[in-house]
Amino acid sequence: MRSRDRAAIPAPAHARLRPGVRLSGNRAGLASRQARRRAHPSAAAARRPDHLPFQQVRHRGPLDGGRGRSGSSVVRADLAAHLRQAGGETPARDVRLWSAVGNRPVPRPRSRSGRSSTAGGRRRGDSARVAPAIRRPRGDRRGCVHEPGLGAIGHAGTSCCFRPPFDILLEGATVRVSSASLLCWLLAGPLAAQDTSASGRPGPEARFRRLDLPAPTALRSANGAPGPAYWQQRADYVIRATLDTAIRSVRGEERITYSNNSPDTLRFVWLQLDQNLFNSDSRGFRVFGQDPRFGTKGAEVSVRLLKVGEPAVPRARGRAAAPAAALPYVVNGTLLRIDLARPLPPGGRQILELEWSFPFGANSNRMGLEDIDGATIYEVAQWYPRMAVYDDVRGWNTEQYMGQGEFYLEYGSFDVSLTVPADMLVAATGTLRNPDEVLTAAQRARLARARTSAETVVIRGKNEIGSSDSRPPTQDPSLTWRFTADSVRDFAWAAARHFIWDAVGVNGGKTLAMSFYPPSAEPQWKDATQYAKTAIEYYSTQWSPYPYPYASNVNGIEGGMEYPMIVFCRNRTDPHALYSVTDHEFGHTWFPMVVGNNERLHGWMDEGFNSFMNHYSFPRKFPDAPLPSSRGVQETYLKNAVSGDEQRIMSPADRMRSNENWRQALYNKPAVGLVLLRDQITSPERFDPVFREYIRRWSYKHPAPADFFRTMEDGLGEDLSWFWRSWFYTTERLDQAVDSVAISDSAGVISRVYLRNAGAMPMPVELALLMDDGTTQRLRLPVEIWGLGDRYTALVPGPRKVSGVIIDAEGLYPDVERANNRWPAAGAPSKPARASGRR
Ligand SMILES: [Zn+2]
Repeated sequence: MRSRDRAAIPAPAHARLRPGVRLSGNRAGLASRQARRRAHPSAAAARRPDHLPFQQVRHRGPLDGGRGRSGSSVVRADLAAHLRQAGGETPARDVRLWSAVGNRPVPRPRSRSGRSSTAGGRRRGDSARVAPAIRRPRGDRRGCVHEPGLGAIGHAGTSCCFRPPFDILLEGATVRVSSASLLCWLLAGPLAAQDTSASGRPGPEARFRRLDLPAPTALRSANGAPGPAYWQQRADYVIRATLDTAIRSVRGEERITYSNNSPDTLRFVWLQLDQNLFNSDSRGFRVFGQDPRFGTKGAEVSVRLLKVGEPAVPRARGRAAAPAAALPYVVNGTLLRIDLARPLPPGGRQILELEWSFPFGANSNRMGLEDIDGATIYEVAQWYPRMAVYDDVRGWNTEQYMGQGEFYLEYGSFDVSLTVPADMLVAATGTLRNPDEVLTAAQRARLARARTSAETVVIRGKNEIGSSDSRPPTQDPSLTWRFTADSVRDFAWAAARHFIWDAVGVNGGKTLAMSFYPPSAEPQWKDATQYAKTAIEYYSTQWSPYPYPYASNVNGIEGGMEYPMIVFCRNRTDPHALYSVTDHEFGHTWFPMVVGNNERLHGWMDEGFNSFMNHYSFPRKFPDAPLPSSRGVQETYLKNAVSGDEQRIMSPADRMRSNENWRQALYNKPAVGLVLLRDQITSPERFDPVFREYIRRWSYKHPAPADFFRTMEDGLGEDLSWFWRSWFYTTERLDQAVDSVAISDSAGVISRVYLRNAGAMPMPVELALLMDDGTTQRLRLPVEIWGLGDRYTALVPGPRKVSGVIIDAEGLYPDVERANNRWPAAGAPSKPARASGRR
């Protein structure tokens, strides 16, 4: 994980620390909770085990009344059926505690004197205060954490000790421990009270400790927003390029105006030559070979630099005139370093002039050529030398392009002139500036009509392909199409002789959605423009308005790839798949086209966020179809999580060992996590405005992971360190368990539901309870219960008694082991124990 690897490097000197700016840690929150309890007598009363913790548990009442979710009656029936299957109908008193772990009876609670304290023994009232969790021999408190008063409700153990036998006061019952295995079972929680247990598993302290993010600076604020001193470089491009269809090559010249807004003087600059991946000498070939999706496909091509220099520099105050000159440069794989003739000071501008050419070759990596229907579709991307990003986090970002990891680019403007054979149609990033020269009058009229039309308007139809009437009259063998774009970070284009072209107005005509496809794709692609309209209008309403005047979708060889205002989608056979890829690629407008993260290092910040958005978009179009597998789907995440090969989300794309790991870590798992955060851990009402604020804060900027984490915490009002750490930084898994249920009734009926966090990942707990009168209840427990130990006892007030329990009955959380989510376990007796009173 790069950001952690680099954490030891001090922040740049210009990243001035703001003294005293620190987010509060968990400890502060803990202390304030203690103070509140001291201040309010009712809080002290709540510490009594049988004083029901109404502040801590949210009773949703009968399932039908809970959150308005569907399926409640199903849950009730399921619980009842499960209870019957387990062999019990109604709870009965029993002196044994049944453990779900191996279905072994827990030894009878005994008094410290060894007498039974249950049925045959003397019992105290259940209203007794909760006992200190564990008593242990003197002198054996090494490493123990003991916070009486904090574990008031139900924590069976928040301390540790090792030498049996000793007594445990378990929720009012005193247990004589004599079994080593039982000891291990009971002390799983206490051990976890430390930062890390002997097994290496993180304890509650480690799980909930404040996430160790880079220190806030004047550039990046503690609340996650760009700081007052935030700066960003800018790159403005003027490009003229010619497509040679005879040799399948493009040749171009470009003029880059590079604005140094950093506080640093630059003596050289780095550019990206991504096409240098496509040969058998490249690093990407050595790492990934030629066959994977992003492999080289046997191509043996690279960028040929014809000129690297700067134009003549006029004399200015403090600067002598200089003639146009070549600049020395070094090519390092897919990177190009150009040494400047003069240092580029803060606030200065450097103009670079380059000429280059490259043949397309056999590659089909995020671009490429397809011969279909008697002609060729050119999808052209990563096709010109592009400025690498110089930022406040890492200086020059010089990761090689190896295929799997995508891009990190500066914002700026483009003025691009593309000269192609006169009979070709061109789709590109930006606004077409010379429609009079490259389109017919009829086509221009249709385009104008499409902008205000809700129905798709054909601009060039299938029956017009090959007709001279569908191209403007010209004697020249070629035409030049000129496009301009602002506030974009890249420029891509496509060209073919046989494109069908249609369009429709989006967002009230503010944007024109267009599709370009070959004749054989028409049966499915005649719907593609409406797909684009549906997706873009949904995202515009839900998150933020689509900011650009055009949105073009091109059907060619590339399976699915996003660029500003233009995407490439391949599917021609399946409406669900075509909608899904169209939805996804246009979703990239928000991430990373507008919110411009470093994709090569943090692919989850664009693929994951986009997949999260797709999770809600796809069902709006196809409510009865299953979600595509990487759009926040728990099942595929779980499969990867238990595979033994899962990799952390915070891993660069080029470190992914398999296609499935890449798909999970960059796309699906981040999406599953954000869906959890939005729909379960918080709520759409709380989450959505904050996610919009993240987009607003970082539009056309370069957020780092910490900026996202902080922005979300800032707006949600939550310390989510436990969530970011567990979900994004580790491959920990969620496994919640219900071990047993006990009933006590000396001071009113109380059902005690013994819960355990069997996995390392903390999450809130959703309980569905079947009561002995056949009714059901819901109980939601906050994630903070796991901050004190791995065990927790949920108390359910009578007079009804709990006769069955399911954790997360609706499968909302990604629990890797659901067999232990039920009590009674299948085939086990269903009789709850009768909990004894504390002596
Ligand atoms: Zn994507």
